[in-house]
Amino acid sequence: MSGIDNLPPLRAVIAAHDLAAKKSLGQNFLLDLNLTAKIARLGGDLTQYDVLEIGPGPGGLTRGLLAEGARRVLAIEKDPRCMPALAEIAAAYPDRLQVINGDALLVNPLEHLTQPIKIAANLPYNVGTELLVRWLTPPDWPPFWDSLTLMFQREVAERIVAAPGSKAYGRLALLAQWRTDPTIMMELPPEAFSPPPKVNSAVVHLTALPAPRYPANPGTLNKVVAAAFNQRRKMLRSALKSVSPDIEDHLIASGIKPTERAEQVDLEAFCTLARSLDAARTP
Ligand code: SAM
Repeated sequence: MSGIDNLPPLRAVIAAHDLAAKKSLGQNFLLDLNLTAKIARLGGDLTQYDVLEIGPGPGGLTRGLLAEGARRVLAIEKDPRCMPALAEIAAAYPDRLQVINGDALLVNPLEHLTQPIKIAANLPYNVGTELLVRWLTPPDWPPFWDSLTLMFQREVAERIVAAPGSKAYGRLALLAQWRTDPTIMMELPPEAFSPPPKVNSAVVHLTALPAPRYPANPGTLNKVVAAAFNQRRKMLRSALKSVSPDIEDHLIASGIKPTERAEQVDLEAFCTLARSLDAARTP
């Protein structure tokens, strides 16, 4: 028996179900249930929430979320080998855990969840950034979720919270900081996982803002930021040439020097630039 519930310790679960970690699925498992409960608590009070978990694996974080009182957990896991272990957790928490064996990039979780919703995951490295960008870029805001509590490689976590002028500052920082409040809550060394990854990890908590920090059309902002950082060494007047033939005028009108580089420009100025471009397009 383990500390947080009456289920067997995770090492025993992995041995019983022969869950040797697969690198191709980004499998680095957390085996310390006190740690997974602590990560679950970083998501705040879960008792009124449905929680979406991506990649439960043998279920360490899943058990943390349930033990911390999540109203319901929907766990989407690609690896069919994990299904029997997850079924044992579902049996121990009747009506509170639903498991889908599928690819999180293809399953629509909204068919199975009731709001309010929080998302928590120790994300598979190969799909983590793609999922985060999807959660941050719906056409309308607020999104279907209230907060994200996500484990990433530390380098990705630093890109999410980065400030202008820093090396890590780029599209991910701008997308995250435009519509959420992101904070690094906890850092974990490789030894916290089995097998240990080559890099350090960190948990980032992102709370959805009721409205974006500054007004801008999401499509335009995304296009401008992507173009600006695709050629981050270039001056903005050339990096953004493809966005508008009058880009120099728009930059000046937005208070940005055309000779500046993307990494020197803050979120507010990028939003002003997106609005200036849209205003010029309106007939
Ligand atoms: N949550 C577990 C933990 O903390 O120990 C496992 C985390 S492990 C880093 C990532 C998990 O995501 C693995 O169980 C892996 O099989 C699963 N996974 C990988 N790609 C996936 C995908 N596209 N959709 C759903 N699950 C995926």
